[in-house]
Amino acid sequence: MGGSTTWGPVTVLWASTQQATRSTARRVAALGDAQVDRYRALDGRAAVRFALSRALLAEAIRAVAGPDADLAISTTCERCGAEHGRVRHAGGQVELSVSYAGDLVVVAAAPAVATAGIGVDVETDDADEARRAAELAPLFAPEAAPSLEKWTRIEAVLKADGRALRVEPAAVTFSEHIPLAHVPGAALPFEVATLPGPAGYVLSAAVAPPAEAAPSEEQARPRRSNWEAPGASARRATRAGAPPAASR
Ligand SMILES: [Zn+2]
Repeated sequence: MGGSTTWGPVTVLWASTQQATRSTARRVAALGDAQVDRYRALDGRAAVRFALSRALLAEAIRAVAGPDADLAISTTCERCGAEHGRVRHAGGQVELSVSYAGDLVVVAAAPAVATAGIGVDVETDDADEARRAAELAPLFAPEAAPSLEKWTRIEAVLKADGRALRVEPAAVTFSEHIPLAHVPGAALPFEVATLPGPAGYVLSAAVAPPAEAAPSEEQARPRRSNWEAPGASARRATRAGAPPAASR
């Protein structure tokens, strides 16, 4: 199971560890020595999953920044310096996000000129709604736990925000008819959508506005007709996105 979709400036790629072939440290090396160290410390399924995520990251960086792009990434934690932080493109030209669920690895990438940060979240659509609601209930009490779709949108927004779960998930609010999410402490809203992903999974992505308040027209120009700058889309359905590309 592998595939891809695009949404505005965001390229989303996914693949299953079940189809992953044995990778090598040499292939991970393009992403930097720290990634090789992490790979060598893993074994079994964890190593396969890690190598697959790095291969997808490399593919996503090339898709956004061109075939000759520098593939080096950093995963240094912004708080403690350990190699378990969010994935960042070392060259700074590409915003990246990674999510895992079951056998699936999902990677999202977008040009840094288009957004200050992106987030992707995937969850297994296992239909055990009651168990999932019970797990999420403490985070949202006294309100009811969100639907699986809404939960993936909340997680995607918090990843795009960059503070992740240091922001209370229940504090993320959504405009009723517009696919915008509001996060306490963030000046501008996030575009968010549940995308057509692989069967059996729910996949959402979120995009922060560009870092510059007034990017040049060249930088701000949308790549696809279904993309609009945050606030510009007055009546777009919440479930948005491009049709899935052919399976790879
Ligand atoms: Zn840390």
